[in-house]
Formats: sequence, structure tokens, C-alpha cells
Amino acid sequence: MAIFSSLEARKAVERALPETISFLQDLVRVSSLLGNEEPAQALVEQRLRDVGFDVRSLVPDEAELVENPDSGIPLLSYEGRRCLVGTQGSGSGRSLLLNGHVDVVSEEPADRWTKPPYGAAIEDGRLYGRGACDMKGGIAAMLLAVEAALSAGDLPGPLVYQSVIEEECGGNGALAACLAGPLAEGIVIGEPTNGSMDLVAPGVIWARITLEGSSRHASHADEGSNPIETAFAVTTALHELEASLNEKQEPEFAGVERPYLLNVGSLHAGDWPSMTPGRAELDVRLGFPIRMDPGEAQSLLAAAVGRADSGAKVEFRGFRARGYAFEADTPLVRLLAACHEDVRGSALVAEPVRATTDLRFFQPGQAVCYGPTGEGLHGVDEWVDLESIAEVATVLALLIRRWGA
Ligand SMILES: [Zn+2]
Repeated sequence: MAIFSSLEARKAVERALPETISFLQDLVRVSSLLGNEEPAQALVEQRLRDVGFDVRSLVPDEAELVENPDSGIPLLSYEGRRCLVGTQGSGSGRSLLLNGHVDVVSEEPADRWTKPPYGAAIEDGRLYGRGACDMKGGIAAMLLAVEAALSAGDLPGPLVYQSVIEEECGGNGALAACLAGPLAEGIVIGEPTNGSMDLVAPGVIWARITLEGSSRHASHADEGSNPIETAFAVTTALHELEASLNEKQEPEFAGVERPYLLNVGSLHAGDWPSMTPGRAELDVRLGFPIRMDPGEAQSLLAAAVGRADSGAKVEFRGFRARGYAFEADTPLVRLLAACHEDVRGSALVAEPVRATTDLRFFQPGQAVCYGPTGEGLHGVDEWVDLESIAEVATVLALLIRRWGA
């Protein structure tokens, strides 16, 4: 088989780029928040078929998932919510799997965006919108890569595409897709990696903490606790736990300040200035060391909350993710680095990040996160750089052909 050069790959990417950008705009314009992923999946399904995949729908099986120690704790029924598994290629070469999540987080506070969060506006080579970077841009880049790779003829080996839900809240979409199969000998997740790659993540758990107090008239405010004020004591206790987790850093996070972070993601309490609220509810996220079991992290979190308020209720939901440290010296990563260097002219380096991804569901020697460049993930004015989509697609088109060759 003739060598597929980086120049040929780039030309094929250029030809399909306008259509890819309009696909990405359509994808950003559907909000695909938790529970509303289907409009995005319908768009991805069509695009998968357009680039030659046979597509199967897969509804995660809650009963099967809750039995699995690596699952997230479901927040919502899976009825009417599906993952997609695309397959194509019958060549005898090594198999490759591409994975992308369609779910996004909220655009809160929407009034601070300078571009509409679901408008997909393009300005100065940047496409703006919630999910543009995390990770609809990566989905567009991966499917563009497939199209470009196909321009050089039949694929050398089997190719699988997983379009999953719930990456942002526990990973059950990817886990369900992996349990259903097929898997492959090499895996790339197109999460945004800003010109580097990502192989390392801390563990992550979520918890909902409910604090109760006697609701009463403000004229009796001094006659007992106030759940809103208790919430601050709980937060302080959790930050003490965070500090103790960060006292001993793991070598995988060398150079990263405080890899294990606490985040208070929501606080709901009270509705009247002249009333002491009866209840406060906090949702928190805690990062923890790779070598710590999620169950141990849950116990530490519950104990810290208990020290601040012995009556607090702690419910674990969503993330129950162990950390991971995947190897960089593997055939897949070496080949990805060679393709990256061919196209982008620089060495591919691994940057540890303080967030998790669906990578943890794959085999350590076989998988890597590699995707476009952007900013504003989980924040205001999220954008993805369109040139980085073309570059990533070119790299991945080479990878698809060379991995299977
Ligand atoms: Zn993501």
C-alpha cells in the first residue's frame, strides 16, 4: 500500500473541512445537557453513516451498570437515551477505536457570555459555544480524520467509533459501550488537549450533602443552627481534607500544584431574609490520588463532613472514578507522536490534568486522549480553534492509516 503522506492527509482534510465546520455548528447549536443528549446523538449518527460506519444504538443497562465497581452512580433513568457504536473496515490490520462524548455542562451564567452559548458563532478562527471545545470540536476532528483516511482507499484495519453520553457525570455511557463492545487494539479519545496529550487523571467522586436545621422566624435566629452557615463549616472541613490529600503528591503529577481539588458545585438553601432555612443542599466534587480507592475517598469525605455537622446526610451520586496513569511508551502513543511531529512539527508531550476523562475504562497500554485546542471549558465563552481541528484531523488520519498498515 502506498504511503499516505501528511501532505495528502492535509489536502483531504482541507477538502472536507467546510462541511465539518457546518456539522460542528449544528452540533453546538443543540444543547445536549444531561438527559437531553438525543438531538446531538441524532446528528452524530447521521455523520457516522455519511463517513461509512454501520451504526448500532445502545441504551445503557442500569441494572448491569450498578453491579460494576467502575460505574458512576446514575442520576437519571436511561430510558430514551442512547450511546452509538459505529463500526467499519474489514482489513487485517490493527484495530482502532475513537471515542467522543456528546454531553455538555450548563452554560451558567448565560448572561455573561459575549456570544450566544448555543449560537456557534465563528470569529477569528474560533468557534464559540458550550461544548465547542469539550468536546464537540474533538468529535468533528475525529470524524473528519476518518473521512480523510478513507480518501486514500479502504481502511487497513477495523475502526470503531463510540459516541457516548454521561462523560460529565460518571462515565456510564463509555462503560456501557465498552461492556457491549467491540473494543480495539488502540484507542483515542478526542478530548481537547491543546497540542499535547493526556494520559493521567486523579480519581474523582461526587457527593450531595444535606444539612437540616429547624426553620424558624428570624426573631429566633439565635436559637439554633442555620444550615447555610453550617454549609460554610462543611466546606472548610472539606478544604482541610483537600489540603491533607495534597500533602503527598504522586510522581505522575510532578509540577502540578494541588492535583486533588475540592469543588463546591452548587448550594441550594433558603428563600426568605426573615426566615432561618430548614435545609441546605450542597453538591461537591473531590479529586483524590490515583493510588486511592474511590471507596476510601468516599469514607474520608463523609468523615470530614461529619466533623463539621454530625447530623449531615451524605449521598454519593455521579462520579465514582478511580484515577489513572497510562503509559506513554507504547506502540500507539509512539505512532501518534510520530504523526503529530510530521504534521505539527513539534514533539508530542503528555500534560497531566486535574480532571478525569473516559480514558479510565480502557487498557492502560492502549489508550490516549488527543484533541483540539480551545478555552473556556465548563466556563463562559468556551471556544475551539478551527485550525487545531484541521491539524488534529490530519494527525489522526495518518494514525488511522499507519496504525492499521
Ligand atoms: Zn470532555
